[in-house]
Amino acid sequence: MERNQIIISPEKIREQYVYMDKVRALLGERMQKVHYAYVETFGCQQNEADSERIMGMLENMGYTPTQDAALSDIIIVNTCAVREHAELRALSITGQFKHLKEKKKSLIIGVCGCMVSQEHRKEDIKNKYPYINFLFGTSMNWKLPEILYNSMIKQKRQYHLDCGDIGNIAEDLPIRRESGFKAWVSVMYGCNNFCTYCVVPYVRGRERSRDPERILDEIRELAKDGYREITLLGQNVNSYGKDLEIDYDFADLLEDICKIDGDFIVRFMTSHPKDASRKLIDTMARSPKIAKAFHLPLQSGSDRILKEMNRHYDRETYLSLVGYMRERMPDIAITTDIIVGFPGETEEDFEQTLDMLETVGYDNIYSFIYSKRRGTKASLMEDQIPEEIKKERFARMIEKQSAISSGKNSVYLGSVQKVLVEGRSKTDPDKLTGRNEKNRLVHFVGDDSLIGKFANVRITEAETFSLSGELEK
Ligand code: SF4
Repeated sequence: MERNQIIISPEKIREQYVYMDKVRALLGERMQKVHYAYVETFGCQQNEADSERIMGMLENMGYTPTQDAALSDIIIVNTCAVREHAELRALSITGQFKHLKEKKKSLIIGVCGCMVSQEHRKEDIKNKYPYINFLFGTSMNWKLPEILYNSMIKQKRQYHLDCGDIGNIAEDLPIRRESGFKAWVSVMYGCNNFCTYCVVPYVRGRERSRDPERILDEIRELAKDGYREITLLGQNVNSYGKDLEIDYDFADLLEDICKIDGDFIVRFMTSHPKDASRKLIDTMARSPKIAKAFHLPLQSGSDRILKEMNRHYDRETYLSLVGYMRERMPDIAITTDIIVGFPGETEEDFEQTLDMLETVGYDNIYSFIYSKRRGTKASLMEDQIPEEIKKERFARMIEKQSAISSGKNSVYLGSVQKVLVEGRSKTDPDKLTGRNEKNRLVHFVGDDSLIGKFANVRITEAETFSLSGELEK
């Protein structure tokens, strides 16, 4: 597929701006003074980034963002399909919005994201949720103005789901960032890996990279606007560039980002061990702007299970990558994702995963109980693991990692950490909370003027999953 077939043309994007004008004109004709928009987001950071584009377009069409669904004139539910639990929650919330529509007949409700890109869920929503005005898939986000306009004019349900396997890239759409100091920047979309448990390649299409100049322009703007943390996103972020027509990879992109002036740090996610090159690690090691934190999903410590998962690496190659990271950056924080209870996982396989927790010495792990996803190879595998066994293994894993994380946190005692202050702590509103370069949560007493800035905090307490300290004057 040629790149010009993947990139939505400037003419098509301009058409969407014409639709934005048309929706704004329609809203102007309606009597109500303010039209509120609410976006409910499930799932990963890519979905959060997509929701910021969706809200950007809605705002451009004349809507005012609100956090209160009950106030809204339009609600968009941006769904996730990675685990069944996320789908059920999205369906349940969508069901609750029915009551709002009964009270306010003019309320418009749209559902988008990975869940609706699955045929069976599309049919479910079409048939069981007749009050939903429109559905659109992940590659159709850019068409929201047209979809919304048609829904308003034709008073007919709209379905814009099929992007084929390829997917697309849409530039130059409005965006409304949630934060004034932390930004998501999608550098690529989709995935080619087809891990046997994962639905992402089916709902987000094949890997496609944005042009580096477009990404660098976006980051120059963010730096100029004073953003302090930029997180580069991609389902398989370090395979960035493979589809470009120039010789340019993810390490080259990081190198160029680090040349941009500004007091900001760069993070990236999610990496695949098979695409995490030594060149990338060397680039991280010599670039002070890149946070020394690497999220490297392991998924399982058993070579047999890794093969069944179609992950294309084994324990040895994974450990040699970790070894090289530590050689180049001795204090790097390494985190991972683990799936517990993949079909066929024996007690011995699971113990090999537990063993990897200690061997690698992860700073933190994100562990998930395996969830059967329709359409994936693993969902058809025999020997699915009973729920009680999955839960029991999950609990053992958390217990083991908690001890490791505690030990890792205690190393910070007495040190001074540079923290990007994010806001008030949810558990203790007397304290501010932020994250250090290694992505550790740090709580301390301070005033609101520090929010969005870097602060130096001397660590006085280390808990399992967070640190506390005192502001250094
Ligand atoms: S790399 Fe594997 S787990 Fe990650 S998005 Fe692609 S298929 Fe899913």
